[in-house]
Amino acid sequence: MNITQALHRTATQHPDRVATIDGARTRTYAELLDRTARLGSALGTLGAGPGQRVAILGLNSDRFLESMLGVLWAGAALNPVNIRWNAEEIAYSLADSDTALLIVDDAFAALVPGLLRACPSLHTVIHCGDGPTPDGMAGFEALIAAAEPVEAVEPDADELAGVFYTGGTTGFPKGVMLSHTNLFSSAMGGLLTRHAEPMVEDYRYLHAMPMFHLAGIGLFLVALIRGGTHVLIPFFNPPQVLRVIAELRINETALAPIMIQLLLDQPDFAEHDLTCLVNVNYGAAPMPESLLRRAIAGLPGVQLTQAYGMTELSPLATLLLPADHHDAARLRSAGRPCVHADVRVVDEQDAPVPGGTIGEIVCRGPHVMLGYWNRPAETAAVLRNGWMHTGDLGFLDGDGYLHVVDRLKDMIVSGGENVYSAEVENAIATHPAVAGCAVIGVPDDRWGERVHAVVVLREGTSVTEDAIREHARLTIAGYKCPRSVEFVDSLPLSSTNKVLKTELRDRLRHRETAASDG
Ligand code: ATP
Ligand code: MG
Repeated sequence: MNITQALHRTATQHPDRVATIDGARTRTYAELLDRTARLGSALGTLGAGPGQRVAILGLNSDRFLESMLGVLWAGAALNPVNIRWNAEEIAYSLADSDTALLIVDDAFAALVPGLLRACPSLHTVIHCGDGPTPDGMAGFEALIAAAEPVEAVEPDADELAGVFYTGGTTGFPKGVMLSHTNLFSSAMGGLLTRHAEPMVEDYRYLHAMPMFHLAGIGLFLVALIRGGTHVLIPFFNPPQVLRVIAELRINETALAPIMIQLLLDQPDFAEHDLTCLVNVNYGAAPMPESLLRRAIAGLPGVQLTQAYGMTELSPLATLLLPADHHDAARLRSAGRPCVHADVRVVDEQDAPVPGGTIGEIVCRGPHVMLGYWNRPAETAAVLRNGWMHTGDLGFLDGDGYLHVVDRLKDMIVSGGENVYSAEVENAIATHPAVAGCAVIGVPDDRWGERVHAVVVLREGTSVTEDAIREHARLTIAGYKCPRSVEFVDSLPLSSTNKVLKTELRDRLRHRETAASDG
């Protein structure tokens, strides 16, 4: 991770939050981002960039903070100067670190002429104080006002982010070289440790997901870090899961959407005392909004968290947090990027698309896989320019929430229009008689592909093909509605409970070939 990404993420998600208060001066995160991008641009013009250090000499202030971010934004490394040093020591350290740029405030501006004489490498001084800018220095506010904001220059995360001096308690301070990854890992470790305490005494986690799958392994680690009790059952079996939760007083588990549905569908669901459940995590496959609403109603008092990710991302990219579940507008989204994940949506040329526009979801961060074992070509196809190309389509809304619309491979192109299978499934799933459904594209001479729905009905119900089509038409456009509907007893599921659409496509192809042959 690069530290400037943390600023970018916070400023995108919370633009109006107050970022800094310094005396009478208050700035929001949007302002901090804008000022940083301008300062970074100005510093770049003045020669700061990768492989260079910029010294900052001043008392604490909002501009000191902006200077740190601006230096990193320009891709240079920080060199914050110890203000207890005398003029000679400061001059020595600037010369020793071969520093060309110095940012200085009012308190230390008087030292500058001496520093310039003593360090030949120093050629530019920026004044960040409130007083008048001394002769020969550039004004901090003037630079920001004149600069155009630029994209951050991002050296490799293992490159130097700064040279930080030790306190000098036992001798002359030592300069410590830290990378972006160093600083970021420590901040993240601290952040997580605070949340790593067990949420209840005798915290119990039920492994309901298969343990070979990253969806199971991710939370296994969380429970391990928390020092919780891992409760194991051989495989997911709805009656057993309800019994175990109630009898062993389980506090947390993770479930795929279909598993939640199977639990809610148990005839005796309401008879189990599930009040012990604090957290239920779900994800690994699209969560239909209608099912999510049932889960919210059926599991009162439980904090629901949705995760979006993939094995290649170890597996986490975004989270829809419990509080987001109180806001109806959020229920169709997969939440916002986690602290370790930089998530973007790009077009076919890998250029970021504007908010609200559908494209491929890409992600980078310290959690991206090293590659696929023995498959260099496949690795190169998905890992490009440091970004993991997920093969999922989605968009980011105005508040930075990621909406996963479909897998690229499942998108149907019918009559030149893109139809997202997940959207059609959502529209069909709200029919009261529908227990499950999957939508696939099948080759069609006229339309290129046609929308085909495979539907499982609830026991004891019967519905016509037309009724399904008309129901879908209530919420989606006509061209997205299924042209054909097939009723089956059950959908083929993978070992991680995802609908195997490849199998549905194969079955249909075989049937159509058999029909045309016979
Ligand atoms: P394979 O890559 O072998 O075809 P897979 O993609 O199902 O299998 P996983 O890594 O288990 O393998 O699953 C990741 C995929 O699951 C994502 O790419 C995405 O399509 C889907 N997914 C995960 N979480 C969510 C979510 N919250 N909402 C929608 N889809 C999700
Ligand atoms: Mg995959």
